[in-house]
Amino acid sequence: MNHKEVIQEVFKKISDIKDEGKLASYIPELANIDATKFGVHISTTSSLKHGLGNFQEKFSIQSISKVLSLCFAYKILGEAIWDRLGVEPSGTAFNSLVQLENDNGIPRNPFINAGAIVISDILISNLSNPKEDLLAFIRSLSGNNDINYSAKIAASEKSVGYRNIALCNFIKSFGNIKNEPTKVLDFYFDLCSLELSCEHLSDLFLFLANNGKAPHNNNQILTKSQSKRINALMQTCGFYDESGEFAFKVGLAGKSGVGGGIIAILPNQYSIAVWSPKLNEKGNSYKGMNFLENFTTLSEQSIF
Ligand code: GLU
Repeated sequence: MNHKEVIQEVFKKISDIKDEGKLASYIPELANIDATKFGVHISTTSSLKHGLGNFQEKFSIQSISKVLSLCFAYKILGEAIWDRLGVEPSGTAFNSLVQLENDNGIPRNPFINAGAIVISDILISNLSNPKEDLLAFIRSLSGNNDINYSAKIAASEKSVGYRNIALCNFIKSFGNIKNEPTKVLDFYFDLCSLELSCEHLSDLFLFLANNGKAPHNNNQILTKSQSKRINALMQTCGFYDESGEFAFKVGLAGKSGVGGGIIAILPNQYSIAVWSPKLNEKGNSYKGMNFLENFTTLSEQSIF
């Protein structure tokens, strides 16, 4: 099975389908993106790197960054982080408040906004310069220093961040946010504003396909068990309330973001990043989901 040939064939097929998605318009800056962008890049544990389309163009990775902040908090604190949040799919929208009341301010998992806000709080409590330290951690994953936050996207999201502000304050009322909500939210908005290309993304997520070890320098980022657990969480909670469908149709561990990006992992084999900005009704990239479904079907390779 040749990953390069399969990518080329599927890319051609998906380039031609009608894009039935819509741009995420609730963050003003995201509504201005060129909706025709389409890129894909694969990085394999056997050193293949291959991209097509707009794979070198940076885009707003949004919630994909929640995996990175989780990995950093997990590396620093280990299993203690699970005292502050759960590992179950929520079955509700990514920005929902409803379960928090019954769950006493403990978010169901780290990939809904509530969970990522708690992880942001944990990082602030444990780092002297959270924003700089997180960026340094992310850059170290692939050795690429050309990765940055976007002040413009962060400000745009903050200007309409009413729900995230509500979530943070609500969780604080249960005592599960230790720092000042404004500080936690600023860090959360910065986190969501990270900009990377498909090429950067698949390179830096490769450690999760490599038992927690960064292939470019052999640094053990997470233990083998932690890496397995992050993949398990992506598998069960990575696609909002379409996670079951992603497991059913694609069969990889993955995480999407409302900027239209998706990262997906096949343990011991590869990480693959896709970007197409228009989203389906569940908030996942319309073409990205189609691409990955066709990719695992044609390559006849998936977790299952
Ligand atoms: N920054 C976005 C928000 O908090 C992230 C949403 C996403 O990509 O799922 O609404």
